[in-house]
Amino acid sequence: MKLAIISDIHSNYEALTAVLDAIAPHNVDAIYCLGDIVGYGADPKLCVDLVRANCAGAVMGNHDIAVAKDIDMDYLPSDGRTAALHNREALEAEHIAYLADLPFTLEADGCTFVHATPHMPQDWQRVGSFFQSKSQFQHFSTDVCFVGHTHIPAIMANKIGVLHVRSGHRFIINTGSVGQPRDGNPQAGFGIFDLASFTYDFIRVPYNVDRAAAKIKAAGLPRSLSRRLFKGQ
Ligand code: ZN
Repeated sequence: MKLAIISDIHSNYEALTAVLDAIAPHNVDAIYCLGDIVGYGADPKLCVDLVRANCAGAVMGNHDIAVAKDIDMDYLPSDGRTAALHNREALEAEHIAYLADLPFTLEADGCTFVHATPHMPQDWQRVGSFFQSKSQFQHFSTDVCFVGHTHIPAIMANKIGVLHVRSGHRFIINTGSVGQPRDGNPQAGFGIFDLASFTYDFIRVPYNVDRAAAKIKAAGLPRSLSRRLFKGQ
């Protein structure tokens, strides 16, 4: 079985369509989404529609809950709060209901999926290092837990010295961000996990950043949100 994992789309339709096109030739059995479908970008409706149509499952991100339920706004930076309000206005009741219903944790196809951390996913903590990830391993039972939230791709093993995904070990894998990468590379990112061979690939794809940025400007959203797309920050 082969899975594609996407995260942190952030209402970036251009990035999401480029990623779905890039996933197609991999012939995956399922696509899972790690949340933050909305927020920051200009196309929340198109992105929710595409996730609903293409993903076997999705989990709740902090921007999703802020947009859908008007809670946890304090976890967002000020430009993120502005975008959350814009996105809520742009969505219809059925999109809001879909976002509001997303689970914090999903276990499916032998993997665990959360937005932030397996332990207390609703607290929106960040797992950024081996030491931060160490205690997280007792909070999921599968070999692999996929996380997003930081927008920075990473592979964290349950032991020091395990430098790539291989069977016999357990991993927390951050699949980076589709719609707002923050690792200095503006290209959209996603993961492909092959359960049979226990191999993981992190893949980058170029997309039309100009168009996504222009839509953010045209929507009257803060300029910082369009500028950062060009830098991958
Ligand atoms: Zn995010």
